Amino acid sequence: MSIIIKSKREIEAMRHVGHIVAKVLEVLKREIKLGMKTKELDSIACKELEKRGARPSFKGYRGFPASLCVSINNEIVHGIPGERIMDEGDIISRDLGAIYEGFQGDAAVSVILGDGSPQAKKLVEATEKALEVGIEAANNGARLGDISAAIQMYAESRGYSVVREYTGHGIGRQMHEEPQIPNFGRKGEGPKLKKGMTLALEPMLNIGSWRTCVGGDGWVVSTIDGSLSAHFEHTIAITDGKPEILTAF
Ligand code: MG
Repeated sequence: MSIIIKSKREIEAMRHVGHIVAKVLEVLKREIKLGMKTKELDSIACKELEKRGARPSFKGYRGFPASLCVSINNEIVHGIPGERIMDEGDIISRDLGAIYEGFQGDAAVSVILGDGSPQAKKLVEATEKALEVGIEAANNGARLGDISAAIQMYAESRGYSVVREYTGHGIGRQMHEEPQIPNFGRKGEGPKLKKGMTLALEPMLNIGSWRTCVGGDGWVVSTIDGSLSAHFEHTIAITDGKPEILTAF
């Protein structure tokens, strides 16, 4: 399978769904409260998507039971919302995908609930910044490896490891299209980035080892050593100039 180049009209549709994802994540940021159960965030996400005429991408995807992924502290991605109560200082990573008129948008954000430890705050800041440097590297004519290398170099220069077993991805009519976008790699390698490519970049940074394990529910991915993790993601489009963030808040 090759990387699909989107037309102007298709990018326009992706801008629309990207905006919906951003808006719903914004509502979640406003509504999240200490003592809330993670499943309450999922209900808000469901309602807010429905209000905007969009469907959740994750629900039913390989049997995933919810619209939103909520991963806490040492959990990296794919946490299933449920009875867990969110506590002071927790790192809450929320990942949301939506479908609108046949196109997909995907974004994630980590926040600290209440007052977090300096360690947690630095990790969340660095992960957000790692996404930013990845996006900055996503220029027309650059190589895919330039994005991967930029993320890895930034993360490791701050003393963090990048998760290797889960990656960013192309996105469009499908949530996961070609190419895979690892958060580690070499500058100058991989396919050339071209105008009209739409990509979901998603660095996942750990304080300890990059190694991961999957929980007993078959979904939640955690750090193998129990160290803290954070996750940020945007769907972007490659343009003639700077990349366009389709899920910008
Ligand atoms: Mg994604």
